Amino acid sequence: MLKKSLSILILLIAAWVPTTSGGSASRRLEVAITFDDLPVILTLHDDKSWAEITNKLLTTFKQSKAPIIGFVNETKLYSNNELDPARVALLKAWLDAGLELGNHSYSHHSLNSTPLADFEADVLRGEKLTRGLMAQRQKQLRYFRHPFLHTGRSVETRDQFVSFLHLHGYSVAPVTIDNSDWIFARAYDNARDANDFAAMKQIAAAYVPYMEAKFAYYENQSNKLFGRDIKQVLLVHANAINADHFKDIIAMLQKRGYKFITLQDALTDKAYASPDTFTGAGGISWLDRWALTRGVPKDFFQGEPRTPAFVLKLAEVQSE
Ligand SMILES: [Zn+2]
Repeated sequence: MLKKSLSILILLIAAWVPTTSGGSASRRLEVAITFDDLPVILTLHDDKSWAEITNKLLTTFKQSKAPIIGFVNETKLYSNNELDPARVALLKAWLDAGLELGNHSYSHHSLNSTPLADFEADVLRGEKLTRGLMAQRQKQLRYFRHPFLHTGRSVETRDQFVSFLHLHGYSVAPVTIDNSDWIFARAYDNARDANDFAAMKQIAAAYVPYMEAKFAYYENQSNKLFGRDIKQVLLVHANAINADHFKDIIAMLQKRGYKFITLQDALTDKAYASPDTFTGAGGISWLDRWALTRGVPKDFFQGEPRTPAFVLKLAEVQSE
C-alpha cells in the first residue's frame, strides 16, 4: 500500500514538473554573451573610471569562463581628436583575456537615418585599430553589430549593407535576448554621480530579477516559435552596473541551467537562418523579427517584462 502510494506520488510529481519553464533536465539552455559600446559607456570620461570598469568586467568574465565578445566604437579611443593610449590599452586587455572583439561602427550612428554610403564608411573607419590589434594576436575581426540594432528601413538598404559586410569579411551579430540594461545603467550612473549609494543598491536589486524575467520571456518566445530552446544571444553593455553586478547575472544564468557558448557556436543554430523581412523602426530582438515575418498575431508579444518606473525616472528616460 505504502509502495503504491509512493509510486502515485512520484507520478504526480513527474506530471507537475513544468516542461516549458524552469530548469527541466530535458532542456538545453545555451547563450552567447555579447557586450556593446566598448571600451566603456559611462557618464564619466576619465581614464581611471574606464580602467576600473574594464578591470571589474574582465574579472567577472574570467571567473565565469564565458567566451564573451565585445563590440567596439573606435571613436571612444580618442580624446580631443588624439588617440588615447590608455583607452587602446583597455581593448588590449579584453584581447589579452582571451576574448574576441567585433565592430560596432566608429560613431554609433543609426543605419535607419544615415545614408548607406556614409554608414559603410563609418564601419570601415571603425575597424582601423581593432583589426590590427586582433591580427597581432592571430585573430580575425569577423562580426558586426548594428548600433541600436537598427538594420535599415528598406529591404534594399538592409540587404546591400549585409552584402557590404560579407565583402569585408563580416557576419551580422544578431541579438535574441534584447533588454534595457542601458536604462538601468543610466539610472545607476546618475545615482553614482550623485553619491546616492542607496539608489545604486535599489537599482542593482531590481536589475537581476528584471534580466531573469527577460530570459524567461525569450525562452518562452523561442519555444512558441521553434518548439525548442534555440541558442540565444544576449546583448548587454560595457557599463558600470555590469561592472559591479554582471557576476550576479552570471550566477542567475548558471542557476537557470545555462551553458555559455561562443557567438560562432550560437549562430550554427538553424533558427538564425529563419526568414526575416523586418524593416521597422525599432531595434528589436531577432526572435521578434522572425515572429513578425511569420505574421504571428499581436498577442504573441504579450507579457514582455518592462523596466520598473522608478528606474526610468532615475535614468531620466521617458519610455523604453
Ligand atoms: Zn551600441
